[in-house]
Amino acid sequence: MDKKLFALFGNPVFHSKSPLLHNSLYKTLQIDACYTRYLLDEGRLLKEKFLALGLSGMNITVPFKEDAFAACDNLDSFAKDIGAVNTIVLKDGLLCGYNTDAPGFMASLGSFAPNSALILGAGGTARAIAFAMRASNIEPVIVNRSAGRLSFFREHNFKTATLDENIGQYFDLVVNTTSAGLTDDEFPMTRERLRSLLMGSKLAYDCIYKETPFLKLAKELNIDSKNGLDMLIWQAFFAFEFFIDKKIDKKYIEVMRDSVS
Ligand code: NDP
Repeated sequence: MDKKLFALFGNPVFHSKSPLLHNSLYKTLQIDACYTRYLLDEGRLLKEKFLALGLSGMNITVPFKEDAFAACDNLDSFAKDIGAVNTIVLKDGLLCGYNTDAPGFMASLGSFAPNSALILGAGGTARAIAFAMRASNIEPVIVNRSAGRLSFFREHNFKTATLDENIGQYFDLVVNTTSAGLTDDEFPMTRERLRSLLMGSKLAYDCIYKETPFLKLAKELNIDSKNGLDMLIWQAFFAFEFFIDKKIDKKYIEVMRDSVS
């Protein structure tokens, strides 16, 4: 059988750890496949490029997850709810779309089981995490700086607020899904407001996988904190299972973890 080829589509993609994560496991499991990355200029070209490159599957990152959703012939129920796809597998000539950010986030929590949760930000990642939480019987509150993106959440009966609205301050889990801190030194809301929210929480979680001002503040307050690396690794693990069309032992997560540590 021919070697199978997989790729990450995004813009930018050159910083991505996904090739390391996937190729480490193909090697360990002796699967004849290779994972690379592809810099896409326009989302509307996603399907055309995917087929032209002869790929068996792909991951999709910022800013093309909604284009990927639109390009799919079949969608799993999570992806349908979320409206964003980060994994596509070619089956019988059809593009089948999944969202593994959602289960990836929940798996990254390990044994931590919050009773209440606050999600900061209302983009694609917030959507994935909100539906993943709901599937685990946690109803999060979603807070965003602008009102526009909150309408999606209200339509799906999530509790929402903008930054100037009162939401209380006791949430077991506070998750930053905004891009604040990614390439700047910003907080997702004022430092003082964030401080009082974190004081009432058990875990501060940032989806960005570096130490952001949000995480630094949690550490100063002696609140447990976690960055987005585990989420990245788990979403890759679940995507890998879709690519090889088989469940594998969870112990192999360590192979992926070692590949990026
Ligand atoms: P989107 O562009 O879809 O959404 C970004 C959100 O951040 C919006 O709600 C936006 O608010 C808000 N925002 C941006 N800048 C600020 C700021 N300075 N202050 C307050 N709010 C801000 O992005 P995604 O949801 O796709 O990704 C969000 C983050 O999650 C990225 O940093 C990405 O790297 C990370 N991520 C990590 C993953 C992992 O595996 N660890 C997986 C996927 C994403 P507004 O609506 O007002 O513009």
